[in-house]
Amino acid sequence: MEELKFLTAGMPLRTDKKKGYSDAFNVLQEMDLDGIEVEFVQGVRMSENSRKLVKNASDKLTFTAHGPYYINLNAREQEKIDASITRIVDTATVANEFGGYSITYHAAFYLGNDKDIVFKRVVEQTSKIIEVLEKDNNKIWIRPETTGKGTQWGTVEEIVNLSKEFKQVLPCVDFSHVHARSGGGFNTYEDFCNILDKIGTELGDIALSNFHAHLAGIAYSDKGEKNHLPLQDSDMNYQDLLRAMKKFDVKGVVVCESPNIEDDCKLIKEYYKSL
Ligand SMILES: [Zn+2]
Repeated sequence: MEELKFLTAGMPLRTDKKKGYSDAFNVLQEMDLDGIEVEFVQGVRMSENSRKLVKNASDKLTFTAHGPYYINLNAREQEKIDASITRIVDTATVANEFGGYSITYHAAFYLGNDKDIVFKRVVEQTSKIIEVLEKDNNKIWIRPETTGKGTQWGTVEEIVNLSKEFKQVLPCVDFSHVHARSGGGFNTYEDFCNILDKIGTELGDIALSNFHAHLAGIAYSDKGEKNHLPLQDSDMNYQDLLRAMKKFDVKGVVVCESPNIEDDCKLIKEYYKSL
């Protein structure tokens, strides 16, 4: 990517739901925002018409996709693992068809298993995903996301280590999740620089110039993420995060997942542009 783009998680709230994507693009244009993360949270479903609209807009706007919530590459039952692989492959297939840049998903739950064993299982299942995509000549970025709760696989360390195993895999860093998961840590300029430095050092410049971040205000307890909030109602230090991203010359996408989606997206874009 040539620059850092700011995307809404799903269509902006101001979108006329009857008109769908065509109106969503008007809202983005009016607000000077750069694209949408298409949310397949309840399943990979998208009408033919929506796919066409997004595809046609993809030369001007940037699109990513979020896979269904019901994914667990560490499930006990083989059929649940297979269904999870299918959901990720389907997300990647549809996103590639509509000209998407990247897909993300929550990869697994520990289910009380040893973390090293879970890592090996996630590697094994990810290799099956990559195999299918290679056969399909689908080169979209595949990104497990840093997760918000200690029961979910997906620390920064784990996601970076998985990314080392596959050329097509890079992190999706949900900075709000990282902050919430630690019960309030990872929220200073130095913390953000450390995460970006680790990614650049361990995965190379390609990872910083093809970044995928999530950002929202967030409420949390000692168990991690509770719910998303508008940035200004939360303690999420988005200003120092954006300063760190600027310092590391991060390029790619920042997807805003606050409940007031497009307003916070504009807030962070304007703050970033002011730096
Ligand atoms: Zn997510």
